[in-house]
Amino acid sequence: MQSLGKESELAVKKDQQYLWHNITPYSEKNPPMIAASASGSWVTDIDGNKFLDGMSGLWCVNVGYGRKELAEAAYNQLLTLPYFPLTQSHMPAIALAEKLNEWLEDDYVIFFSNSGSEANEAAFKIARQYQQQTGQPYRHKFIARYRGYHGSSMGSLSATGQAQRKYKYEPLGGGFLHVAPPDSYRRPDGMTEEAFNLQSAQAIEDMIIWEGVESVAAVIMEPVITGGGVIVPHQVYLDRVQEICNAHGVLLIIDEVICGFGRSGRKFGHHNFGIKPDIVTMAKGLTSAYLPLSATAVRKEIYEAFKDNSDDYGHFRHVNTFGGNPAACALALRNLEILEQENLVERAAVLGQRLAGEFAGLQDHKLVGDIRSFGLVIGIELVADKASKQPADLSVVKGIIAECKSKGLIIGKNGDTVAGFNNVLTFAPPLSSTDEDIQFIIDTFKAVLNGSW
Ligand code: PLP
Repeated sequence: MQSLGKESELAVKKDQQYLWHNITPYSEKNPPMIAASASGSWVTDIDGNKFLDGMSGLWCVNVGYGRKELAEAAYNQLLTLPYFPLTQSHMPAIALAEKLNEWLEDDYVIFFSNSGSEANEAAFKIARQYQQQTGQPYRHKFIARYRGYHGSSMGSLSATGQAQRKYKYEPLGGGFLHVAPPDSYRRPDGMTEEAFNLQSAQAIEDMIIWEGVESVAAVIMEPVITGGGVIVPHQVYLDRVQEICNAHGVLLIIDEVICGFGRSGRKFGHHNFGIKPDIVTMAKGLTSAYLPLSATAVRKEIYEAFKDNSDDYGHFRHVNTFGGNPAACALALRNLEILEQENLVERAAVLGQRLAGEFAGLQDHKLVGDIRSFGLVIGIELVADKASKQPADLSVVKGIIAECKSKGLIIGKNGDTVAGFNNVLTFAPPLSSTDEDIQFIIDTFKAVLNGSW
């Protein structure tokens, strides 16, 4: 690894003086990596060091870096029509909404915002207003899961089930409740995965009943908990959740912010389970993060309840200035075309299977408790003791990540320090990764884990 030159020393100084980083604690000793350029799955820092981005940024650069076509799509649209609010309309938004319907394989109406957090905020407001306008005025509560992450704004953070993220920011929005996710690895001894998943889903129905059926507006969940530790449910879990929501008039919001756009090996994560969400939220992979854009897809029947103009307050009174920016929409359309033309959705499934298959050989390593995968999302849960499943110490997890980085591989981890679960290493490289890229991830990670750990 090349050491800091004079120019980068100055950049680090200025970074520390002027820039406030996302979630990362300030550290004079460990300055941040300052990226300069990127191509494919590789990022180059300002000293010329190259890293394979095994996390696609924040699980988002699905088509990989350096796509000229995406820059051109945005550039051309900026010259033609750089902005017009979606209080009215424009062609890129119409075309993208139509395309998203095709991708969703069902009938939805699309509301655009800029980030995953905002997409979820819109979903919560739509769910409450829908319930009010269809004769269920008291349905205001949301049920989410512990360990799930849904965003950083007050509502989406309220839905988040990671205490670490909320600590010192509470009280947040009211009416958000949580149940435990189906963490099959930690199920009671002797219980089948299926029985445990059914029991986990039952916790949702129990909560709905205990809270009062007529007080619950919606359930929100990712198809698979990603950033919270790659917790993959059994098919029976999501089948039962769908059944419970339908039985009690509770809307099902599926957060596809990470699982969407091919990451799961299908177009959307929920397609793997055959469920039919009422609302689908999406962001990240929608533009492969080249520009900010997110969407809240709402089932047509729900949208119909917002059409009654006899009530001044019957329409969705939510606005964001930048949501559905024409350049972001044009870029997103091109991004979806690339995913289709290069068969990247299918490729994600193939690459995920290859990574998971190779990593399966690590199961006997003393630190490896469990290996889980969902498309091109892999989680390796590290434990201090295999029998008790006690999570590995954070210093071990961080040490492995740092050693991978020193060998040119960026990997991630989940994080819920308060509850003690910050022990799952995560891998989510671009869907466009080459076979050589995947081999580099395999070789580097195996060398690190089998080396000094
Ligand atoms: N939902 C999920 C599942 C996420 O992983 C994230 C972000 O990581 C969000 C929502 C929030 O998205 P954003 O950071 O774009 O607001």
